[in-house]
Amino acid sequence: MRASGKYPDHNVFPSVVKSCALLLDVKLGESVHGCIIRFGMDYDLYTCNALMNMYAKFHSLGLSGSHGNGKHKMLDGMSERMFSSEVSGELIHKFEKRMMSIDQNVSLNKVKCVSPQINGNSEFTDRSYRETHDSYMGEEERSARMDSVRKVFEMMPRRDLVSWNTVIAGNAQSGMHEEALMMVREMGNANLKPDSFTLSSLLPIFAEYVDVSKGKEIHGYAVRNCFDEDFFIGSGLIVMYARCNRVEDSLWVFSILPRQDAISWNSIIAGCVQNNLYDEGLRLFQQMLKAKVKPRQVSFSSILPACAHLTKLNLGKQLHGYIIRAGFDDNVFIASSLVDMYAKCGNVKVARWIFDKMELHDMVSWTAIIMGCALHGHAHDAISLFEQMEMGGVRPNYVAFVAVLTACSHAGLIDEAWRYFNSMTQNYGIAPGLEHFAAMADLLGRAGKLDEAYKLISSLERPVGSVWSTLLSACRVHKNVDLAEKVAKEIFEVDPENVGAYILLSNIYAAAQRWRDASKLRVFMKVKGIKKNPACSWIEVKNKMHAFVSGDKSHPSCDKIYETLKVLLEKMEQEGYVPDTSEVFHDVEEEQKKQLLYGHSERLAIAFGIISIPAGTTIRITKNIRMCADCHTATKFISKIVEREIVVRDNNRFHHFKGGKCSCGDYW
Ligand code: ZN
Ligand code: ZN
Repeated sequence: MRASGKYPDHNVFPSVVKSCALLLDVKLGESVHGCIIRFGMDYDLYTCNALMNMYAKFHSLGLSGSHGNGKHKMLDGMSERMFSSEVSGELIHKFEKRMMSIDQNVSLNKVKCVSPQINGNSEFTDRSYRETHDSYMGEEERSARMDSVRKVFEMMPRRDLVSWNTVIAGNAQSGMHEEALMMVREMGNANLKPDSFTLSSLLPIFAEYVDVSKGKEIHGYAVRNCFDEDFFIGSGLIVMYARCNRVEDSLWVFSILPRQDAISWNSIIAGCVQNNLYDEGLRLFQQMLKAKVKPRQVSFSSILPACAHLTKLNLGKQLHGYIIRAGFDDNVFIASSLVDMYAKCGNVKVARWIFDKMELHDMVSWTAIIMGCALHGHAHDAISLFEQMEMGGVRPNYVAFVAVLTACSHAGLIDEAWRYFNSMTQNYGIAPGLEHFAAMADLLGRAGKLDEAYKLISSLERPVGSVWSTLLSACRVHKNVDLAEKVAKEIFEVDPENVGAYILLSNIYAAAQRWRDASKLRVFMKVKGIKKNPACSWIEVKNKMHAFVSGDKSHPSCDKIYETLKVLLEKMEQEGYVPDTSEVFHDVEEEQKKQLLYGHSERLAIAFGIISIPAGTTIRITKNIRMCADCHTATKFISKIVEREIVVRDNNRFHHFKGGKCSCGDYW
């Protein structure tokens, strides 16, 4: 057109600018911008809207032009996560289509970000994710990213709702929340009323600030203006409520949406998982499949953490298969979630294999694999991975230190642990938190350095019950009743209802044959109404979870289970097994004690595994509390007798039993 001597007018430039945006061609876009200025078209409303949009898109993707300073970083925390996610991609696409239908003249008007935060890999990866985000993008960089958009905006002689929405959304996505909110006020001064686009840009801000009252105001405004059936608002509200720990409100918003689309499904599933409603998340995921909504990449990074938490290895494997078939397995966030899932479900080998195949590692995958190795007793692998991470220039964060200290603690590496503990503050400026203190106390306690552990915990400004409990367990192992009483007193001072501590202390009394003290404690618990959490073990057989409590007689295969245990016990005793009844709580006869041990939940689960899972395959058990010493010994014998690997995940770590030995080296 230009070659033929014709001048492009205001009808042409918006389309050209939009094309540059869609091609992600920064250079071309900038030279078109130059051309627009030369032709004097920079006063045209639609052209300017298109320009702002283009720059907002480039900035959000981390593409930099001649004056931008946003280097394109693969692991640019937040923006990368949000915009690489399909949800945002889809939103952009939908907004384009929607705006095209509203005004043929107007080009791409909105780069949206109502994306559910795909951060819920686990309680610890959530933090690492946020830290990644914060450390990669400083205030300055965020502001610089918006420069070109703002410049265009400021030069515009006339602005319409689309112009305001573009600049507000741009600010909101770049993390310039105050600016975005200020512009909404200015927009009001210019006599323009926010529409559904404006509202859906604001919702993520209140989600980020966890400001549910402001979020509710927007909800109210949306209802009054009949925007509440809008997909983007709906999803924005779901995300906002979920983020503010009001997931029941998210579920309600979801349920009244006139039609659920992929975005709202993914938002609600992510919301449930982030709020620890794992079963609900899985149920909704299955419903989504039934509703013939195809899972997206983001669906998998939301649902895999649920499998990890519920140790649903079989389901996790099925999802993995789906991921491979859909070609999602090279997505860094999905791969990280897979590493985390396999590690937590007890298959650290596969976790490591996926980790090694990843081209790029983010904080989530590093911490997942290091923690995985640590919990499975591969302490040296965990430590060497941590060092690899440091050498690769990745700054370890809070969670990475929890992982490496856990590794040291499970392997009894005291010197290394102190080195890492000190390097946190000295080299990285991270103040050690409760988890770090707990790991150190655990390590010292297990090594028998009980006084040193006591001193360390006392140095904490406000030690909580859980850190003290670590030391109390150590007192039990080392049979130090005096210190145990001292520690228990500290626990009851800060946490008078700590059931675990009562049980531990009475076990310590029982082991020291101080029956009178043990029973006094039991009476006290009864009077106070403090109830013991029943010990429970789970095993997944053919996609179904089977739960067992101590002495359980409710399972349909109950007879076979007890028969199996009886046969096993005979063989175990032939092999030299002697029941260790010292930790049995009750003051009863030896023979009865044996019977009590015999019915411990993990043994029932293991016996059920032996009769229902094909010979030669691994038996995987999850237990809600720590394994007792006798079951640990018994399981070692069983693994040898039945020639199977048995993996037990208790609330503290993984035990891999094989050929009569355990991966923890009996140090746990
Ligand atoms: Zn036991
Ligand atoms: Zn073990």
